[in-house]
Amino acid sequence: MAKHATPLLDQLESGPWPSFVSDLKQEAASRAKNPNNVEFQVNQDCVEDILGVLELSYKHGRTHWKHGGIVGVFGYGGGVIGRYCDQPEMFPGVAHFHTMRINQPGGKYYTTEFLKKLCDLWEFRGSGVTNMHGSTGDIIFIGTSTPQLEEIFYELTHNFNQDLGGSGSNLRTPSDCVGSSRCEYACYDTQAICYALTQEYQDELHRPAFPYKFKFKFDGCPNCCVASIARSDLSFVGTWKDDIKIDQEAVAGYVGGEFAPNAGAHSGRDWGKFDIQKEVVGLCPTGCMKYEDGKLAINNKECTRCMHCINVMPRALHIGDDRGLSMLAGAKAPILDGAQMGSLLVPFIKAEEPYDEIKEIIEAVWDWWMEEGKNRERLGELIKRQGFQKLLEATNIKPVPQHVQEPRHNPYIFWKEEEVEGGWQRDINEFRKYHQR
Ligand code: SF4
Ligand code: SF4
Repeated sequence: MAKHATPLLDQLESGPWPSFVSDLKQEAASRAKNPNNVEFQVNQDCVEDILGVLELSYKHGRTHWKHGGIVGVFGYGGGVIGRYCDQPEMFPGVAHFHTMRINQPGGKYYTTEFLKKLCDLWEFRGSGVTNMHGSTGDIIFIGTSTPQLEEIFYELTHNFNQDLGGSGSNLRTPSDCVGSSRCEYACYDTQAICYALTQEYQDELHRPAFPYKFKFKFDGCPNCCVASIARSDLSFVGTWKDDIKIDQEAVAGYVGGEFAPNAGAHSGRDWGKFDIQKEVVGLCPTGCMKYEDGKLAINNKECTRCMHCINVMPRALHIGDDRGLSMLAGAKAPILDGAQMGSLLVPFIKAEEPYDEIKEIIEAVWDWWMEEGKNRERLGELIKRQGFQKLLEATNIKPVPQHVQEPRHNPYIFWKEEEVEGGWQRDINEFRKYHQR
């Protein structure tokens, strides 16, 4: 018998999609039965209370968590999101309901051995409820009490060799697409650099030293499977500099219908016979492709590496061999001054261990933003306030046409004094000698 009646939530158990309500009920039932005789360190019926408080919120149309919450582990300034229920008498199981962020592995590859260990720990010292994963990437342990935080942290670090993720005004947990582990489009090893930079900047991740939060994300190519361009202050997007590789025989295979376009992604509907002219050549954003006499040609000088042709004919077209990545800066959600996506900062840079050149740029950006950024001002907002020019100067990058989508149309142009002959110090009397009032 459930502890709280949940008539509204019960409706979410029907339908084909995996129901979080059914899953929570299953966990609640398992804790009630406790087949493994776990000595639960937080309320045995906390999952019942999650369902109860959520039902109340469904009824009221309002949240029942109190404002904020500041908890954590010694040595770190972040990693745990404190949270307290505003109806602790009604729902004692979630009076404390803190969330812990656990730094996930690159590409989110796991062994069951590791996950089982994590589950054992979390069942013992937490609610048993998780989020796999948070939007930034972390494994999220949802719901435990303050006294359990150090216990869990000790266990994670001493027995699992596993650290917390980031929260607060610091470097948050970096994340990546699966990259070369199982994608033919990967232009660099996203997991390797994500891991290396996460390790390199552990201090910046665990102890907030920034004006505001800062995120890294690593995409192996412009398809952007981890959405770095929209969801990280510095996005790393793989690309190449030389020619797209064309396998003419495989092109013929597509034209002849032997290979399905887009690897069969549109097979759920009849789109007619593959038409290379209509579906590839005619859709190329720069119009740099040609299909003549059964041969496909690409004028690579005009190719913007949008991925379209490669995405449509993955067996025939391949990324080039001279690979690296582009760095874009400033993406953020709307608050305060409007949403931003990353703006191109470094058109091309090699992504080779130990990534010294890339680190130099990251650290130059940080030096500028840490000094100049206002309290709770994202990098993207500092770029707006002080100008992209300042970012280029701070990172010692020369302005190039690729830095803009279009040049400015207003003439409010600033010059540096040293660029102007004679400088700014002028005497009005000198002017009056030639121009009477
Ligand atoms: S971003 Fe590109 S390289 Fe990474 S998984 Fe997606 S398609 Fe593959
Ligand atoms: S990658 Fe994009 S721009 Fe380049 S040739 Fe293919 S479709 Fe055209």
